[in-house]
Amino acid sequence: MGGALCSRTMSCNNSRVEYHRQSQSTDQLLMPNKWKANDVLYIRVKSKREKMQERGIESTQRTVAMFSPCTFRNCKCKGGTFRGVKRDHFGWKNSICVRSGCNHPLSDHIQHLKNVSMMEFTVLMKLIFDIINIKETLKNISIKPKSKRNILLKDIFESVYNVLNKSVLLHPFTTPNIDTIYGSPPFERTNIDQVLINFCMHFFYDDNILELKNAYILTKFVLKYFDTWMWTIPKELLKCNSQEYSKSYNYYYRRFLMYCCLPRCIHSISLRYRASKIFGHEVLKYTLKEFKSQLLSWCHVQSLMWTEHTKLFCLDYLTIYMDLLEKEVFNDKSPIWYMDLTLSELKDKISFLECIKIRK
Ligand SMILES: [Zn+2]
Ligand SMILES: [Zn+2]
Repeated sequence: MGGALCSRTMSCNNSRVEYHRQSQSTDQLLMPNKWKANDVLYIRVKSKREKMQERGIESTQRTVAMFSPCTFRNCKCKGGTFRGVKRDHFGWKNSICVRSGCNHPLSDHIQHLKNVSMMEFTVLMKLIFDIINIKETLKNISIKPKSKRNILLKDIFESVYNVLNKSVLLHPFTTPNIDTIYGSPPFERTNIDQVLINFCMHFFYDDNILELKNAYILTKFVLKYFDTWMWTIPKELLKCNSQEYSKSYNYYYRRFLMYCCLPRCIHSISLRYRASKIFGHEVLKYTLKEFKSQLLSWCHVQSLMWTEHTKLFCLDYLTIYMDLLEKEVFNDKSPIWYMDLTLSELKDKISFLECIKIRK
């Protein structure tokens, strides 16, 4: 869990003292990098981008020129257009930009590539590829039926598109800052990861309902599934009493798409975040019913291939765990929201219980 720093705030509407962790470093909020190796969408987009880069230096220069401002003095051209212009035997670099007011050669649009490092060049190529890719995606969305989901996606893609376009003009070698759109993660104080550690310790600390070490294994399993789980789209969310929440489901859902889903197909923006690390109380309340039902159904389907031991964990124990969790998540006064236990405290308790068993 790292950085077990705590701070205290007084809740406004009651006198309960609320504990919460201070923000963790970004690294601790991210998906471990190995997710990329198993993500089909990520791999497909990456290979498409690499193909674009493999077309050769001249083709690459021409693509970059289309997204880069002309550097000829006082020229206001913000991106070269070379439509209809043919390469001569020196290649594209003498091609003339056909934009009115420009008419300068391609080389004036790629001055910034001189002395550029490989790392900076990769940032730029990712940026340009993403702009082209998002443009294509927006075109595809516009011909699809106008569902709520498509309107939401269009909105998010357009916002990212605008940030990337600005970035390629002003800071072509820097990772674009998409935090200007919906703010920076985390979006809730005590995250789901912490809440589940609290829950695990609070209910299973004496090995009575389930052994604490087994409850901890289940906690890790549930968190892992939650981090790769695709949330229910707002339209299909089960009815919730909006008065119980400070923010709408839409508010969180947009951020989920932006920080947990988009990095799979837009590689220039941000790293992929773990939903369990950047969301907390409200998201758990919004999503738990649907999440629980999908997780348990998934286990039932998978169980055909499992050993008796795994079945015991993922069918019997998990059902007990999830039923209890559901009951507790809808109890706003539960200690799971303000306990601040660290992972090492939990592990120490497990070791302690194991020692007692051995002595017996
Ligand atoms: Zn131009
Ligand atoms: Zn020009």
